[in-house]
Amino acid sequence: MADQPPPDPGVPHLVVRGLRKTYGAPPVRALRGADLTVRAGEFVALMGPSGSGKSTLLHLVAGLDRADEGTVAVAGVRTEELSSTKLARLRRRHVGLVFQFFHLIEHLSALENVALAALIAGARPAEATARARDLLDMLGLLDRAAEPPDALSGGQRQRVAIARALANRPTLLLADEPTGALDSAGAAEVLDLFHRLHDTGQTILMVTHNRDVAAGAQRIVRMRDGCVVEDADDDLGPAAESIVAPAGPLWVDVLTGRRTRLARRADPGDTASTEGGGGTR
Ligand code: ADP
Ligand code: MG
Repeated sequence: MADQPPPDPGVPHLVVRGLRKTYGAPPVRALRGADLTVRAGEFVALMGPSGSGKSTLLHLVAGLDRADEGTVAVAGVRTEELSSTKLARLRRRHVGLVFQFFHLIEHLSALENVALAALIAGARPAEATARARDLLDMLGLLDRAAEPPDALSGGQRQRVAIARALANRPTLLLADEPTGALDSAGAAEVLDLFHRLHDTGQTILMVTHNRDVAAGAQRIVRMRDGCVVEDADDDLGPAAESIVAPAGPLWVDVLTGRRTRLARRADPGDTASTEGGGGTR
C-alpha cells in the first residue's frame, strides 16, 4: 500500500472524460461519451433511468472493466494505460465499492469480512483486525462483530459492507444503489452513515434511484442514454486540466534514457466529439 501516496490536495478524486463502452453483439452502447468530475470531499448522487449506464460508469471507474475510449483518472492517476496489476493496486488503494446486495462472505463473521479486505491489500493480520474493529466500532456494529452476515439485519449488513469498503481508507467511495435492497429503516441507517462519512471528509459517488436519498447529497448528477446530461458543476479547473489532456508524445533522452511524456492540450476536435454530441446523445 505504501507505493500509492494520497493524492495532492486540489487534484479531483475522480475525472471522467469522453468515456465510451459498448457491450456484446448486438452491440449495446452503455456509455456514449460520459464526463464527470468529483472533487475531494464531495458527495455526489448519480441518478438516471434504468439502463442509462450508471453501473457501467461505476465499474469502469473502479477498474473492474476497461472502457473502449476515454479517460478515467482516480486520485490524479490515469487508468487507461495501467497494466492489470497496476490497475488492481490502484483500485485496492484508492477505491472502495459498495453494492446493492452487500456481497458479504456468508461463512465469515462481520469482523472477518472487513479484515479480509485489509489483508488482501497487504496489511498484517493484527493490523487488519484492529482496523476492522475500529471501523465496526465507528459504524456502531462492534457488538455484532462476531456474527455472520445472516444474523444481521439488511441495514447492518450494508454497514458491514461499507466498513469493508473503507478498510483501506479509499480516496473514493463508490456505491451502486446501496439502499436499493433495504426497507426504509435500513435505508435511513445507511444514508445516515454516508452523511457521517461525508462529514469526516470522505469523497463519495453514489448511484441511487431514490429522490430522497439523492436529495441528501451535495450535488446531483443525471445520466441518460450513456451520457451525463445534467451537471451544473463540471468545471475541471486549471490544476487538474493536465490530468486528462491527451497523452503527448514520448520524449526519450538519448543520454540518460529517461522517458518523459510531453504535455499536450486537449485537441479541440476531441472536445467537439464528446461535448457537441448532436444526434448520438
Ligand atoms: P444502469 O446501471 O443505469 O441501470 P447499466 O450500466 O447497468 O445501467 O447498463 C447500461 C446498458 O448496458 C443496459 O442496456 C444494459 O443492459 C447494458 N449492459 C450492462 N452490462 C452489460 C454486460 N455485461 N453485457 C451486456 N450488456 C450490458
Ligand atoms: Mg445499475
